[in-house]
Amino acid sequence: MREFRDAARVQALIQKIAPLADELAAAFGRPIQIMEVCGGHTHAIFRYGFAQLLPHSIEFIHGPGCPVCVLPVKVIDEAIAISAKADTILTTFGDPMRVPGTSQSLLQAKAHGADIRVVYSPLDALTIATKNPHKQVVFLAIGFDTTMPSTALTLTTAKAQGINNFSVLCHHIRLMPTLEALLAGGDIQLDGFIGPGHVSMVIGTDAYQPVAKVHHKPLVVAGFEPVDFLLALYQLLIQLKEGRCETENAYARVVNHRGNLTALAAMDSVFDYGEDCQWRGLGWVENSGVRIKPDFSAFDASKHFSPSAEPGIQQEPCYCQQVLKGQRKPNQCPLFAKHCKPEHPLGALMVSSEGACAAYYQYLPDKETGIHG
Ligand code: SF4
Repeated sequence: MREFRDAARVQALIQKIAPLADELAAAFGRPIQIMEVCGGHTHAIFRYGFAQLLPHSIEFIHGPGCPVCVLPVKVIDEAIAISAKADTILTTFGDPMRVPGTSQSLLQAKAHGADIRVVYSPLDALTIATKNPHKQVVFLAIGFDTTMPSTALTLTTAKAQGINNFSVLCHHIRLMPTLEALLAGGDIQLDGFIGPGHVSMVIGTDAYQPVAKVHHKPLVVAGFEPVDFLLALYQLLIQLKEGRCETENAYARVVNHRGNLTALAAMDSVFDYGEDCQWRGLGWVENSGVRIKPDFSAFDASKHFSPSAEPGIQQEPCYCQQVLKGQRKPNQCPLFAKHCKPEHPLGALMVSSEGACAAYYQYLPDKETGIHG
């Protein structure tokens, strides 16, 4: 366990959470089942030792909020096909580089000679385009609502500057339709959600109202510091004890109820929403897709390059889907830590810095031992 900057507050919160969780679990006749939506929170649970510090009366179900883990095989295949074109530079974030495609990953394609570059922001990709006017530069855009504003800003900038050798292969995904699909599936028993602080900073807490009002699950938005997470967990347990079902915000220093209006306006000016999309491990998710508006079609790589519509061939073991949906823990996968490791990942969940399997592998002292996280 790492040393906490706020150790006294962490200890005080755990002392309040533990008896409350035990009391609720006794009343329910089973552990309280909390889904932390975001992979960043999954890693926080292990990094800060909460899996060991919190009682077994709380069971964390790891949610689908890792954009790399849900990246379809077809997207990797499309990006590799584009990178194989003459005079083309493909750019993207570091995380997707090792995600398996049908026959290879972006990293393997780069090793075979494709010009694929890792950038920290889409604006860096635009800079590469301005420095390479005789090449087409494509940015593979992934991520939930958190990263959509920076893609929107980059497209707006490219249009304003009249740059004609830059385009975006848009594979953003929206969180709320994904959560609603998960709840509608009814495959898992959940008592409540810890909401992701970064997505919430963009979309605001009001966006989660359907979780409480339609699906009758409480949700509390949390930041990523130990105290932030525990405070949200405590608020969630208080709701369960009082029989309330509301959206609450335990990260008010960053998140408000309406979201970042500037970011939302930038997104709305560039993207259309409402398309059903097929995601790795989740299948078809209604309304989750994001398309570049016709006004920006000159910057839409899917129009520019017409990448293959062939569905990618999923090579991943079926366990990945079960872990992604919270139906199985990573260390309940028979391949975990034996055949599937970060240096040789069989599934995207072992690749991403937010993947649940990568978190278990990195932080579990005994990788064979099941725990309540
Ligand atoms: S350990 Fe590997 S194969 Fe098993 S669920 Fe995780 S990523 Fe998939």
